[in-house]
Amino acid sequence: MYRISPSSINLMLECPRCFWLQTIKKEKRPETPFPSLPSGMDKILKEHFDRFMEQGQLPPELREQDCAKDGCKLFNDKEKLRIWRNNLKGIEFLDKESNIILHGAIDNILVKDRKLIVLDYKTRGYPVKEDTHEYYVTQMDLYNFLLRKNNYETEDYTYLLFYYPSRINETGEVIFDTKLIKIETDPIRGEKVFKQAINILLSEKEPEASRECKFCSLKN
Ligand code: SF4
Repeated sequence: MYRISPSSINLMLECPRCFWLQTIKKEKRPETPFPSLPSGMDKILKEHFDRFMEQGQLPPELREQDCAKDGCKLFNDKEKLRIWRNNLKGIEFLDKESNIILHGAIDNILVKDRKLIVLDYKTRGYPVKEDTHEYYVTQMDLYNFLLRKNNYETEDYTYLLFYYPSRINETGEVIFDTKLIKIETDPIRGEKVFKQAINILLSEKEPEASRECKFCSLKN
């Protein structure tokens, strides 16, 4: 039985061979240093959002946004959030035919009427560019696919909430600006890319390596 995640599927889109090696042979490509700021931010943002969830409110950075005008609330099932946020568990779906599990850990969820809307925090060093969100479309498609497979209704969009530093105040605290981006999200597209991953894992043939990969070219 294999367990794959939206980030391993993003790796597949970059290079099917690396995804195959990582999932089947447990061989990872060379690690590059990963800044710890985003995971530290994720942790304090979850705590910050949960304080407002307990009061039945949205945090200030969302109050003037479309999601507030639409009447969205923060999802308040704490037990589900605890599981869905756990990187080792997350929202899961077992494809019984292949015996492959897809699992994805979310940051937060908004609720509009009965429908769920995934909200993911992203930390950046600089203001967001026009196309910054495009890299995350597959991740969001897979989250909505997972929620639908777990019998939840979802909106056909999700939100990315970007935080980036803007200035330092006189007492030395760094102030972050935020930008909320709504992205069109399609669980059918998520299902297709999950099937593509299953086909690679079930194939007897080792997939080809990406031509553009800097890791393999470094080795040659
Ligand atoms: S080309 Fe790069 S990404 Fe693909 S298998 Fe080689 S190291 Fe991995």
